Amino acid sequence: MTERLAIRAASRYVAGTTLDHAVAVVGRLSATGVASSVDMFGEWVRDASTVDRVRDDYLALAGRLADLPANTWISIDLSHLGLDIDPARCADYLTAITRAVPTGHRVQVGAEDARRADAVLDCVTATAAAGLGDRLGATVQANLRRSPRDVERLVDAGVHVRLVKGAFVEPASDALSYGEETDIAYLRLAHRLAERGAEFCLATHDGVVREALLAGLGPLPVEQLLGVRPEIRDDLVERGIPVRVYVPYGPDWFRYWMRRVAESRGA
Ligand SMILES: Cc1cc2nc3c(=O)[nH]c(=O)nc-3n(C[C@H](O)[C@H](O)[C@H](O)COP(=O)(O)OP(=O)(O)OC[C@H]3O[C@@H](n4cnc5c(N)ncnc54)[C@H](O)[C@@H]3O)c2cc1C
Repeated sequence: MTERLAIRAASRYVAGTTLDHAVAVVGRLSATGVASSVDMFGEWVRDASTVDRVRDDYLALAGRLADLPANTWISIDLSHLGLDIDPARCADYLTAITRAVPTGHRVQVGAEDARRADAVLDCVTATAAAGLGDRLGATVQANLRRSPRDVERLVDAGVHVRLVKGAFVEPASDALSYGEETDIAYLRLAHRLAERGAEFCLATHDGVVREALLAGLGPLPVEQLLGVRPEIRDDLVERGIPVRVYVPYGPDWFRYWMRRVAESRGA
């Protein structure tokens, strides 16, 4: 009973516990002109048999893309795919999943804590080097001091970049403070991506940052999290700005829900 009440409360941010729940949300978003990126909850996996199951689930998800609205993408966190156990195998699995994605779709790799950033980047660039850069995306956190270098590496690899502010609490040696410092870094990174002619999107709900960049750089794609500021999507669609929503699902929704609730209260 408690779990049922909690999942009902979480449903603002969480598509549901099964792929069918996520597919229903993707369909509803598509009817309003909004694309989706579907993620299966999970991170920090530490046993090999779970990693193989996660790979198989993602391969099945990649197989379903052909039946979903065109322009539906997949999102994945590599610690869910065994990054912490065996980075080389994780890279192989990412390559297999990306290869299974039909042409015109992408696998967007999430950014995790700064400690994992090198390993994540190595997996992404290895998959891109297998000739799959045009089906791949990575996430760059504007708050990390290393991100200007990472952006160059990702653009050189031909990988789509999802630019976010960054959701993890990091030491000051690794990260800028939340607020003005991170916002300025976000603006600078977006301008650098545009200067390089990179394919990228503005994954932020910050209206001031978004509108400043749209005014300066033109109609860049915008990405949002399910349940966060949905009221602005119609306006963006009407203005011809491509909009994509991150649609997460799965039984392990609790930690993600807590993160979003904390952010909604300014944490
Ligand atoms: C598509 C997408 C993918 C992401 N992937 C990653 C990732 O891989 N790694 C990572 O570290 N971070 C990721 N993030 C999260 C991101 O780093 C931020 O933590 C989050 O988006 C909040 O920052 P903001 O840019 O929206 O700006 P903020 O300044 O935090 O928020 C702007 C405004 O949005 C509203 N808002 C923000 N969050 C909420 C909420 N939860 N509920 C209600 N209103 C809210 C508020 O009105 C707030 O004033 C992703 C974000 C998006 C949109």
